[in-house]
Amino acid sequence: MSNFDCIVIGGGHAGCEAALASARMGLNTLLLTLNLDTIGQLSCNPSMGGIGKSQLIFEVDALGGEIGYATDETGIGFRMLNTKKGPAVWSLRTQVDRKRYRQRMQRVVNTQKNLCIKQEEAAGIIVKNDKAIGVYTKRGAEYFSTAVVVTTGTFLNGLIHIGLHHYPSGRVGEPPSEELSESLKKLSFKLGRLKTGTSPRVNGGTINFSKLVPQYPDSNPYHFSYRTNEFNPPSIPCYITHTNRKTQEVILKNLDRSPLYQGVIKGIGPRYCPSIEDKYVRFKEKESHQVFIEPDGIETDECYLNGLSTSLPEDVQLEILHTVPGLENVEIIRYGYGIEYDFVFPEQVYPTLETKLVKNLYFAGQVLGTSGYEEAAAQGIIAGINAGLRVKKETPFILYRHEAYIGVLIDDLVTKEICEPYRMFTSRVEHRLILRQDNADERLMPYGVKFGLVDNEVYEKIKERTKKVELKLNELKKMKVAPDEINPLLEAHNSTPVSSSTTIFQLLKRPELTYQVIEPIAGRLTSEIQTKVELHAKYDGYIEREYELIDRVKKLEHCKIPATFDYSKVNSLSREAKEKLSKIRPLTLGQASRISGVRSADIICLLVALKSKNKKTIRVFP
Ligand code: FAD
Repeated sequence: MSNFDCIVIGGGHAGCEAALASARMGLNTLLLTLNLDTIGQLSCNPSMGGIGKSQLIFEVDALGGEIGYATDETGIGFRMLNTKKGPAVWSLRTQVDRKRYRQRMQRVVNTQKNLCIKQEEAAGIIVKNDKAIGVYTKRGAEYFSTAVVVTTGTFLNGLIHIGLHHYPSGRVGEPPSEELSESLKKLSFKLGRLKTGTSPRVNGGTINFSKLVPQYPDSNPYHFSYRTNEFNPPSIPCYITHTNRKTQEVILKNLDRSPLYQGVIKGIGPRYCPSIEDKYVRFKEKESHQVFIEPDGIETDECYLNGLSTSLPEDVQLEILHTVPGLENVEIIRYGYGIEYDFVFPEQVYPTLETKLVKNLYFAGQVLGTSGYEEAAAQGIIAGINAGLRVKKETPFILYRHEAYIGVLIDDLVTKEICEPYRMFTSRVEHRLILRQDNADERLMPYGVKFGLVDNEVYEKIKERTKKVELKLNELKKMKVAPDEINPLLEAHNSTPVSSSTTIFQLLKRPELTYQVIEPIAGRLTSEIQTKVELHAKYDGYIEREYELIDRVKKLEHCKIPATFDYSKVNSLSREAKEKLSKIRPLTLGQASRISGVRSADIICLLVALKSKNKKTIRVFP
């Protein structure tokens, strides 16, 4: 028998962040995982970030997490996406060396103070008086702790499908986790079934690259982490090709061997990330689909075929690839597959990720219905921090929708019904102009410092930077230029000349004028400050309006609902609202307003009922 403050089950992206956060907060932490060698494994494509996801990485980094730093160290081709649309929506993406990423993450967890790692299968949660007090393992060992975090990814009752053949597995080559799933059911957790899939991986030596279009990384790349100093990553291109009518013919003639189309796979897959067979069945008229050939690492020839996820049989997979230009003679090294797995319906957790059924028990990552490394890492750090705060008997930590993409992610999970694996999209985020990747440190680093995960010195530097931007903006608002001074420069950049003197700030608002253009007059800045100054000028007014909106939203967010509130006694609430509110038990009026089926009229009734009870801030967590 051993005692710990916190036990984390699972060494994937959620588990690593949870365990590191807990240990770095000074808690005696145990990480249990099925295989030490697959800690930090990228189960699917070898890439990190991208639109909607890079923001999550920057936010985890600002809170003191590891994913951004590890990505910077092992990235092999960084590209800033969306650059034509202006810095507010820029998103960083990179190919990652799969093996080096795993090794890098293993080195960090192995050397982390306060963190003990064991290769063991957790078979169940030990619960006493509705509180998690530890974990028992398949070999009969018991480990006790104050908090437990479950981050088991696709492993709970995992079932792999290749063609009509299927077998129990958590990920290819790894066993499923069956007993833990049963233990959760016995504790009365409601589990569902989801599905995801991955593409074949091929021997790069058998690709005819001369037929492909290369996509080169940025020559002067950005990085994710505030901790990265010297940044000179390898620059390895991806390649683009396309499927065609022949590919479609192969797929359609083999649908009788597809587990998806023969009803063998019951779990629901992500609509936004369909398999190639799904694409051709659902969008019959579309002849061609794009395929990205992504390098798997520096010291390997293996390539990942992004866009060709499939669970068709092995021989059909090969036939499909041979129809694609550049892949006519390609050899498959690892076949694509589909996987079904149990997940825990996320309405069963609070926004702290602690479960409503069992106190001190937290869930994070794919087990909670999400998909993606970044989504998993984001939940992992929140669960790890909250487990730490619980052990220290401190106030729980919740990020709200107006504060972070992470806030949106978790709020969506706990208020909306999950019908497919959830992934982050920018369209889910109301305050995109405020929640940018470039200001994640300004928004979230104070929390990282508060929890002891980020050095205060680092945050002081961020504050200095913010001050410099403010000073420069004020200077530019006062700096006036006369028409004869500025018009030649405006005309040279196809910008309308001015007829009276104007401020540099006003000019910078023009879409066609970058800071670089007006630099001879406005003065030289570092590229980081220059980007921020330009962004504030371009979005001036919009940003202020956004903050006004947030102030209004905050009022609802601050109106807490007591944990014991009896919705059935509020007669004016609709029946559907009573049912949903009693089931989800939102913590605030803001959260209640986002539950599907709860209407504006219900929120007003609820507000009146709460006011009449005249309870100020009542204990929120039971
Ligand atoms: P994982 O990374 O799966 O880690 C789970 C960890 O739990 C493992 O370390 C495992 O050993 C451990 N574990 C499990 N059970 C136990 C137990 N009982 N005791 C101890 N340890 C245990 N994401 C995308 O964004 N896009 C995609 O296209 C995509 N496709 C995917 C295809 C496949 C086939 C798979 C498997 C995943 C795919 N993903 C995709 C998802 C992505 O890999 C996951 O979202 C991400 O890895 C989830 O991280 P996690 O930490 O929640 O779980």
